[in-house]
Amino acid sequence: NPVIGVLALQGDVREHLVALAVADATARPVRRPEELAEIDGLVIPGGESTTMSKLAVLFGMQEPLRERIKDGLPVYGTCAGLIMLADKILDPRSGQETFGGIDMIVRRNAFGRQNESFEAHVEIAGIEDGPVEGVFIRAPWVESVGARTEVLAEHDGHIVAVRQGNALATSFHPELTGDHRVHRLFTEMVRAVR
Ligand code: GLN
Repeated sequence: NPVIGVLALQGDVREHLVALAVADATARPVRRPEELAEIDGLVIPGGESTTMSKLAVLFGMQEPLRERIKDGLPVYGTCAGLIMLADKILDPRSGQETFGGIDMIVRRNAFGRQNESFEAHVEIAGIEDGPVEGVFIRAPWVESVGARTEVLAEHDGHIVAVRQGNALATSFHPELTGDHRVHRLFTEMVRAVR
């Protein structure tokens, strides 16, 4: 099985570890730059992107991870993880940096305060057997994408899933649903690269 890390600085790491194990990957938490050498792919979990960004700098992960992603390490970001993979944030908090990797502009907390959390069926290109249950928690959306970025899903006219090369990102949290088709898709992407 491919070895897939879950960036364990902050966020819902446990849920991703479980989902990856179900999706036939060997999953492990990753916190230190040295550990990046031992993985075939990496999940960046949901949480709080401003905090994650600060911790990435503090743990010396910011630059090494940025480099690995640029070199083609397969990555999958959910929610805050999607924000971390954006080349550009529309409304960054001061000092908030991302790892980048996907040519897109992201709007944080885009789905608004009123409905901070909701679920919706999301049809994802490349995933068969019907829509997935999308869990959106203070979720971002993708405001616009570059020419090389593929839009995989929309909700209410807003982009909520994208792929660029080996980088995959969703605004929502498949790791919370028990439906691991998105994690399977990512595991297949990792396998294809390995
Ligand atoms: N709103 C959070 C952020 O900006 C993301 C929320 C989440 O990951 N569920 O980082």
